[in-house]
Amino acid sequence: MDNKTKFLIWYIFIAIIGVIALNHVIVSQYAPKDIAYSEFLEALEAGLIVEVSIVGDQIEGKMRDAENPEETLHFSTFRVEPELSEKLADHGVTFLGRPERTFFRDLLSWVIPLILFLGIWVLIMRRMSAGAGFMNVGQSKAKIYMDKDIEVTFEDVAGVDESKEELQEVIDYLKDPEPFQRLGGRMPKGVLLVGPPGTGKTLLARAVAGEAKVPFFSISGSDFIQMFVGVGASRVRDLFKQARESAPCIIFVDELDAVGKARAGQGGFGGSHEEREQTLNQLLAEMDGFDPREGVVILAATNQPETLDPALLRAGRFDRHVLVDTPDVNGRKVILELHARKIRLSGQVDLAVVARMTSGFSGADLANVINEAALLAARKEKNEVGLEELEESVERIIAGLEKKSRVINPKEKEIIAYHETGHALVAAFTPGADRVKKITIIPRGIGALGYTQQLPTEDRYLMTRQELQGKIDVLLGGRVAEQLIFDEISTGAQNDLQRATDIARAMVAELGMGKTLGLSTYPRQRKPAFLKAEQPPFPGKEYSEATAAQLDEEVRELLEDRKARVWNVLSEHEQILRKIAERLLETEVLDEQEFKKFIQTTKKESET
Ligand code: ADP
Ligand code: ZN
Repeated sequence: MDNKTKFLIWYIFIAIIGVIALNHVIVSQYAPKDIAYSEFLEALEAGLIVEVSIVGDQIEGKMRDAENPEETLHFSTFRVEPELSEKLADHGVTFLGRPERTFFRDLLSWVIPLILFLGIWVLIMRRMSAGAGFMNVGQSKAKIYMDKDIEVTFEDVAGVDESKEELQEVIDYLKDPEPFQRLGGRMPKGVLLVGPPGTGKTLLARAVAGEAKVPFFSISGSDFIQMFVGVGASRVRDLFKQARESAPCIIFVDELDAVGKARAGQGGFGGSHEEREQTLNQLLAEMDGFDPREGVVILAATNQPETLDPALLRAGRFDRHVLVDTPDVNGRKVILELHARKIRLSGQVDLAVVARMTSGFSGADLANVINEAALLAARKEKNEVGLEELEESVERIIAGLEKKSRVINPKEKEIIAYHETGHALVAAFTPGADRVKKITIIPRGIGALGYTQQLPTEDRYLMTRQELQGKIDVLLGGRVAEQLIFDEISTGAQNDLQRATDIARAMVAELGMGKTLGLSTYPRQRKPAFLKAEQPPFPGKEYSEATAAQLDEEVRELLEDRKARVWNVLSEHEQILRKIAERLLETEVLDEQEFKKFIQTTKKESET
């Protein structure tokens, strides 16, 4: 007998008892007061009886209270003498041959409880079909999706070649674990796919299963979070049990952050805190409990890796991360082409044009563009999709995305391109600065408009003054480039300036690298906001106001000096700054090699 029938039987049992009990309560509410027949006769003589109904020997009716004639009392009694009607008539009492109120009473006493329990039943059923899993406490089969033969392959995922490359190893391993085992290599148990929503994480995970031809178990982190404590944990247990039985296979956990949020932070979703904790612990225990050689690889997706509990990222768990990024202009073109295969596209359309219009779009947004365009064409009763429909569709989707502030207008894009190029160029011309690995101007959610990725050349434990200055220079490069090119500055440099100031302040106040303040250190003191101005200075400030002013002045001067140098560097290389920024506007991404080529050609030009 499965849980469902068990539950049904119990429910019916409880419902029957409940109906009877409620019936009893209602009946006794309406139950008349039993009185002796003699009492009834007395009342009749006294003219207190208002009305009666008689069935057989049973008499029920209403009588007035002797003391308080306003009150009526519902009574019942048994008749002893046969002739009553005359007496009743004598006293002017209305009488009936059948109890009037029984019908109403019966109706209430049976129907109300029945309706009540039926209602509860309907509610439960609705809950269950909504997936809240009221009944399958301890049993999760309904929610774990198992796909035996996935048709999706890497061909269906475009524009994320780097992520694919990194996942290739997982596929090789699942296809043939033997060589890995023989060499004693340890496969990662958990691979975390990190990237903004809609970039194809789920699709990639499925494609890995499709490529390796292994079953694909999937569950979403938010499914784990249920109303009942313990459900999530038992789901996890079940999931791993099932997966191990069909190894080699893939377990995919979507929305890992729903379960794996760092424990300290209070989660903002419905499920109880304790529930999430238990689910997370179970997940960790399961991951630790199996040998990667069993052939189960766990893939998980998240768009907020920074919120994850560090325990999840420890070695032997999700210790490998694969970035699945928003596609660049080429990636977008390929994704568009891929999805355009499903529709009838006019031969004249160049999808590269559409790719250029859709900066910041995710793979899902692009799939949407194609789909929407096909619908538009159908509405216009065209028989193929043209550029016109695609443009209209892009506009519609941009309007939707603007609300999420993921779209950047062309002017902003230009500023960002120069800003980022500024960082990169200063880095290239600053001795000892970290290598520029990548420059991008693809917007990535709220906050980061673009970024210049630098790779440290080696692990460092000490930093020289020159290196610290170099760091400040690179940070200032963005702002200075904006000023140099547009003679105007923007808010885009806020974070850079903050970090530059931080370094400068540390140099002056803590590292003895200032000009006039010497080797003394001046520990930072941040006066908490709740201390009012007239209260004594916050303890920890062990230097005078004069020193504080001097400190501020030195920090300011240091930053001004650095800015002057950065200005020189960038104005000297303004031509190349413009060239690279323009290139960046076209391609949105520049990798290390291409960037280096630009730098080298200029160097050569300036030498000749
Ligand atoms: P995520 O899991 O990252 O939120 P999905 O994998 O669910 O994103 O992507 C949703 C849909 O968007 C996919 O089913 C696919 O149609 C489309 N899509 C997203 N990224 C790509 C891509 N790189 N190549 C092709 N299609 C993509
Ligand atoms: Zn910047």
